[in-house]
Amino acid sequence: QRPLLPPPSRDHYRDLNDHAYDIFEKSKCEENRGRTLLSRLQSMVSKTFSHTVKLHLFGSSANGMSLKGGDIDICMLIDDSFGDTDIVIEKLATMLKQNHFTKVLAIPSARVPIVKFKDQVHNLSCDICINNKLAIYNTRLVEDYSCIDDRMRPLVYVVKRWAKRRKINEPFTGTLSSYAYINMVISFLQSREPPVLPCLQQLAFGATSINGKVYGDNLADVTVDGYNCKYYNDLHNLTGFGKHNKETLGELVFAFFEYYARRFNYVTDVVSIRTGHTLPKTSKTWESINKKSHYYFSIEDPFEITHNLARVVKRSHLTMIISEFNRAYKILSRNGNLHIVCREFIHD
Ligand code: ATP
Ligand code: MG
Repeated sequence: QRPLLPPPSRDHYRDLNDHAYDIFEKSKCEENRGRTLLSRLQSMVSKTFSHTVKLHLFGSSANGMSLKGGDIDICMLIDDSFGDTDIVIEKLATMLKQNHFTKVLAIPSARVPIVKFKDQVHNLSCDICINNKLAIYNTRLVEDYSCIDDRMRPLVYVVKRWAKRRKINEPFTGTLSSYAYINMVISFLQSREPPVLPCLQQLAFGATSINGKVYGDNLADVTVDGYNCKYYNDLHNLTGFGKHNKETLGELVFAFFEYYARRFNYVTDVVSIRTGHTLPKTSKTWESINKKSHYYFSIEDPFEITHNLARVVKRSHLTMIISEFNRAYKILSRNGNLHIVCREFIHD
């Protein structure tokens, strides 16, 4: 591992903290984004399919961490009696066109089949997928984590802003999704000494005493599409969990970039918020069963543990991502401004 760089000075830590809150305040948008669209769509779906078919928001419009202008993710829960997913997707597309939505595009062959469209009235881009129950569960998990400590939400906003501006939040071209970055943030916050966040999934296997307070319980399994989705979510008991960690948001922003620029080992380790610490790559079947399936970067999905959230990332893209972490780390170490760190990437 390469040597660590000096941290910012005290004054610059203060600026960094202010700028991080600044980005948070300017980027966040109203809580109820997407709700009006959701209820309009729900009544159309009830008429077209049945009143038993329900729509759910997931992703950032449901976990309270969306950026202005961000997409709306919707999942439709429907049973087999309505036919194959591709038939349902086509029927949804027809319904949307009839109701004057624009840019309607059905993609029935994707790993998660979806229909994309735009709501011109509110200028919203939206995706609807079918029966992606795990997405609803992982959205809730992320939201619950963000309620435990006030520093997580602004840190996620800074990271999302930075990743979008630096063009490394484009899963369709080989970089990471926002959800992957959120997993990296949670894993980092779990790794602080003392921790800012607990590991909610481990706490579901029995009570643990942390700093003299007891958290967790032995919970019943919650099986969704064959995966165990149980986690401890007594948020009332969890408030104040991170109070023994006194780091400011500014200090955490710097430490986050340092962690993924210098401390995390991309060659040997897997990011895993399920276990609360990194795992060796050799422990994952996706690395060992088939020699061909070697991944340059591994982020274990907290529930669908056979799924690597970073599987689209090729070697050249990982190099790009790590060099962005290094760039941010170096600028901040030299007392540079967070707004420069988050400056738009221009291709030359
Ligand atoms: P943004 O505001 O950038 O859209 P987001 O919080 O909505 O951020 P997304 O990356 O759009 O995050 O993820 C939304 C949902 O899509 C996640 O909750 C997850 O269920 C699913 N998802 C995202 N990336 C992956 C991935 N690499 N593999 C599997 N599912 C993913
Ligand atoms: Mg999204």
